[in-house]
Amino acid sequence: MTTWLDIADDDPFGVDHLPIGVVTHGDRGRFAAVRIGGYALDLSGAGDYARLFSGETLDPFLAAGPLAWRGVRSLVTAWLTDEAHRGEVEPRLVRLDETTAVLGFSVADYVDFYASEHHATNVGRIFRPDGNPLTPNWKHLPVGYHGRAGTVVVSGTEVRRPHGQARDPDGAIRFGPSERLDLEAELAFVVGTGSAPGQAVPVGAFTDHVYGVCLLNDWSARDIQAWEYVPLGPFLGKSFATSIAGWITPLDALSRAWVAPPPRNPEPLPYLDDTATPAALDIQVEVRLNGTVISRPPFTAMYWTPAQLLAHMTVNGAHLRAGDVFASGTVSGSQPDQRGCLLELTWNGTAPITLLDGTTRAFLHDGDEVVITAAAPGPHGPIGLAEVRGRIVPAASATPG
Ligand code: MN
Repeated sequence: MTTWLDIADDDPFGVDHLPIGVVTHGDRGRFAAVRIGGYALDLSGAGDYARLFSGETLDPFLAAGPLAWRGVRSLVTAWLTDEAHRGEVEPRLVRLDETTAVLGFSVADYVDFYASEHHATNVGRIFRPDGNPLTPNWKHLPVGYHGRAGTVVVSGTEVRRPHGQARDPDGAIRFGPSERLDLEAELAFVVGTGSAPGQAVPVGAFTDHVYGVCLLNDWSARDIQAWEYVPLGPFLGKSFATSIAGWITPLDALSRAWVAPPPRNPEPLPYLDDTATPAALDIQVEVRLNGTVISRPPFTAMYWTPAQLLAHMTVNGAHLRAGDVFASGTVSGSQPDQRGCLLELTWNGTAPITLLDGTTRAFLHDGDEVVITAAAPGPHGPIGLAEVRGRIVPAASATPG
C-alpha cells in the first residue's frame, strides 16, 4: 500500500503500521492520534468511531474490542491511501516534533513476567551460583509478579533514582539512594477487551483480548531488590517507575512477525499448549545507553509466548480489564551482546561495559539516558516499534533516614 503523504516507502511508521497514542500540542491540546511517518493524525474526527476518542484517552477505544480496532484501522488506512480523502485528512495531521506523547490510557493492572530462559538462567547463575540456575517451576509455568500500575510512566519521563534499604557485602544494612540502578528491556502487551470473573482466557483467545504491543523499561534497583525479594518477590526495587512507549503497535500490524515458538521440554500442561498457532513474535530489540548500542536482544528467543503469559495470568479465574498491561520480562538472547539488562551485561557489575565516549558502566549513573527501540518484519519492510526513553535524575535530597 502507498500513501499520498510525503513519507518514504520503507518508513518504519508507514501505512502498514499505524500505532496509536495520545499527544499534547500547543494549540490543539490533548488528542488521540495515529502515528504516520513524521506526523500525528488526530482521531477526534474518526467518523462513526469519533466517540471512542472524545475523552482524550484511549480507554473507550481499547475497551471497544477487535471489531472497533479493525474498523478504525480500515478507516485510517483508507484516509491515508486514497487521494480522495486528502483534503479532509491533511488538516488533521500535526508534525510529530510539535507534539509530546503522554500516557494515553489508564493502566489497570500491571504484571511482569520472567519469560526468557537466557535471562532467568543468567540471573540464577549470578544470584545462586551454587544451585540450579532455573527454579524447579520455571519450565512448567511462566513465572511473574504483580507490579505497580500507578507508577507506569510514558517514554520521556525522567526517572528519579530511588531510595531504599540494602545489605552491603559485609552484612551491614544501609539506607540511601540505590547504587545499582539498572534497566530491563521488555515488550509489554496492552489488553483491550476484558473477560468475565472466574473465566480463564485460553491461549487461542489472545488476539480477542490484546490490542497491541509496546516497548517497556522495567527500571530495577538491584541492591534494593536483592535484599527484599525473598520470600515474596520484587517490590520497592521496581515499583518506583516503569516506562512504556507512547505509541502502541496494534497486533494487526504484526501479521508478518508471527513465528513458531521454541521447543519446550518438558511439554507444558494443556492450558499452555500453543502449538496450534504460530505464537512467538519475531521482534528485534535494540538497547542504547547514552547513544551506545549495548545490546540487541531477540524477542524470538523467549521461552514463553505472549499467549501463554495471558493464559497463565487468567487460569485461576482472575479477569481482565481494559488497560491491563502484562510485560514479557527482560528479553535476553543466547549471546553476551543480546542480554537485556546491565545485571547480565556486566555480570552483576564485575565486568563493566565501555561506552563510545570511553566511560565505563557497571550500573546506571545520574544523567544516563536509556533508549530502547525494536523492529519487526512487515509487508513492505520493517515495522518500527516506538522507542521507550528515560533519563536518570539524582535521588531526592530529603530522605527519611
Ligand atoms: Mn522485569
